[in-house]
Amino acid sequence: MELLNGKKCNSCGFHMLNPSFACPSCGSDALSDIVFDGSGKIYTFTVVMVGFGHLAEKAPYVLAVVELKEGLKVITIIEGLDGGHAKIELPVKFKRTDEKSGPIFQPA
Ligand SMILES: [Zn+2]
Repeated sequence: MELLNGKKCNSCGFHMLNPSFACPSCGSDALSDIVFDGSGKIYTFTVVMVGFGHLAEKAPYVLAVVELKEGLKVITIIEGLDGGHAKIELPVKFKRTDEKSGPIFQPA
């Protein structure tokens, strides 16, 4: 199973996804590698009916902002979820990282 890796700022504790080279919260570059739990919930979403580029074949798909258990928000595609069933607060979990699209989540 693939893990959702990220960074934690040694200075202020802010969590971020890879690739991160400096903390967007305090500007520190003292970061530690961490592995996120991978569970979260849908904070907000939209159903993309017409995708562009490499996403064209995926459409329609659910594009969501997922709030991870650790508190940070991630823009991600939710796989395995019909647009009509997407809703705010729906529990989701990390599935894999797509090299073009970034992190992909699925219903928990
Ligand atoms: Zn920081």
